[in-house]
Amino acid sequence: MSLVLGCIADDYTGASDLANTLTRNGLRTVQTIGIPADDLKLPDVDAVVISLKSRSIEANAAVEKSRAADKWLRSRGALHVLFKICSTFDSTDKGNIGPVMDALRSEAGDNIVLVTPAFPETGRTVYQGNLFVGAAPLNESPLKHHPLNPMHDSNLVRVLARQSGTNIGLVDLGIVASGADVMRSHLDGLSENGFGAAIVDAVFAKDLETIGAVALDHRVSVGASGLGLGLARGLVASGRVKTANATSMADKPVGGAAACLVGSCSQATLQQIARAERTMPVLHLDAERVIADKNEAQRAIAWAKEHLGKGPLLIASSSTPDQVAQLQKRHGREAAGHAIEQAMADLAEALVDAGVRRLVVAGGETSGAVVDRLGIPGFLVRAEIAAGVPVLRAVGAAQGEMVLALKSGNFGGTDFFADALRLMP
Ligand code: ADP
Repeated sequence: MSLVLGCIADDYTGASDLANTLTRNGLRTVQTIGIPADDLKLPDVDAVVISLKSRSIEANAAVEKSRAADKWLRSRGALHVLFKICSTFDSTDKGNIGPVMDALRSEAGDNIVLVTPAFPETGRTVYQGNLFVGAAPLNESPLKHHPLNPMHDSNLVRVLARQSGTNIGLVDLGIVASGADVMRSHLDGLSENGFGAAIVDAVFAKDLETIGAVALDHRVSVGASGLGLGLARGLVASGRVKTANATSMADKPVGGAAACLVGSCSQATLQQIARAERTMPVLHLDAERVIADKNEAQRAIAWAKEHLGKGPLLIASSSTPDQVAQLQKRHGREAAGHAIEQAMADLAEALVDAGVRRLVVAGGETSGAVVDRLGIPGFLVRAEIAAGVPVLRAVGAAQGEMVLALKSGNFGGTDFFADALRLMP
């Protein structure tokens, strides 16, 4: 394995987003679910993204998991490690971005760490250290109401200083725009003055390229997929990675039966289900019965077995916002969501046992529950079905060759399910 770039992502969907960005920018990338077992055979790749669930856990636990991931990546030859955070800097004053950054920095022996959540193409920009979500400063965006990590301060120099043991400096847009050499000497100055990390402004995609090139002088950086883009382009431009098109590697068709499992209740998903009814058999689960007893899942499995030999099928728990609200009122939001996610995981397990090897899952949490249950250790990112939703080819799965697509919420066009299956032969 010719691993150059190691990434530690603090949640699963962020990890997929990053793996997709790296692949689209020329790196052969594998996404692993958790820290891979020592005997996992990985194909020849340029980047590994280790997916953790460490965004909202206790800071010490996040540090411990991230250190273990870092150790694994370094032992496989990673020269640079990106700690992938959310592009809205989701965290509290107790962490976890600062504590994990401090630990990785001390492990790597870096003087100063570059930090930026900017990703201009998705509306995340940083100016004078302030993060904007579209036109709104972070503290005026919907993130101020986030249930776990409400963001009340848009100034990331201040936010990170409250979490970290080191002084936090700023590399402003004027310096970034002056090019890599000016940025390097500014960082030297900050480091000489006792700053161990710096928030870096970025407003345009070209800023990310400058930042990526400079970050590669260091062993650790912290950022979102935008910084991943900068690092990938820097690695390709400098010749450290030689790959023409990371998704052009020929894949043998997987074959086997195909199924779609849908737990997302977003508006886009509801439209996509309606469209799928024209081309494949669709079973609508009764969410109330799914929560009340396991027989609803058994009924769905029996239905699926009847149809599997004839072509793709779709099973959905989804309902309209009114119905979802009523169900949540009766059972509680968390309990209802969890029970349905577990039923979806039961269904996924049974479908794979029955021969399904091409599986589309809609819903972020639903996808997490399914992937955990199937115990798939990792994925190679393949063709892009819709913006941000790639075909994933399982790596090291006990079930053998499999392809999956994991779609969260509002992603994908109206024909998403048919589009996905077309790209998953
Ligand atoms: P999205 O990506 O659209 O947010 P998720 O899978 O992350 O989708 O979240 C959807 C949540 O809604 C899951 O917890 C799922 O179990 C739950 N859910 C699915 N169907 C229903 C339903 N009919 N009523 C209430 N909750 C549901």
